[in-house]
Amino acid sequence: MPDKTSDRNPGGRGDDVCCVCGKEFSIFRWKWFSCSFCGKPMHFFCDSPYGDSITSLHACPSCLAAGNHIRTYSANYMGKVFVKSGYRPIELESNWYKDKETALGELKILAGVSGYTAVLEVKYIYDTRRDGNYIYKIWAATGVACVI
Ligand SMILES: [Zn+2]
Ligand SMILES: [Zn+2]
Repeated sequence: MPDKTSDRNPGGRGDDVCCVCGKEFSIFRWKWFSCSFCGKPMHFFCDSPYGDSITSLHACPSCLAAGNHIRTYSANYMGKVFVKSGYRPIELESNWYKDKETALGELKILAGVSGYTAVLEVKYIYDTRRDGNYIYKIWAATGVACVI
């Protein structure tokens, strides 16, 4: 499963409509992004919660759904996780977000769209940004995608 190559343009069909609302891109609805995970286009106003990233990361509904069932385990988790052999674990790193949950959500999508079922060794890293007088933290998450 994890070796599946990404199919960015399956036959060219469906790339002229928004993958969120199904409507076409016209002169009045010209602004769109592509899903950062599968490359399908969507309208600016149909964007998902991942459009709020301080980097411009956008996830379509099917990639969001692929991340939904992924189980995550903190690097501090002391229990035993039985990892299936035969699937090469890969290291994942998210982009930077204003909250940890969104960073973890990106790891889950990255794992899900590649056919993995869990992310182990989840850790968060933070940095600070300044917006005028306002200083805030930004977060990224790292982990190891596995099949369990
Ligand atoms: Zn749309
Ligand atoms: Zn997608």
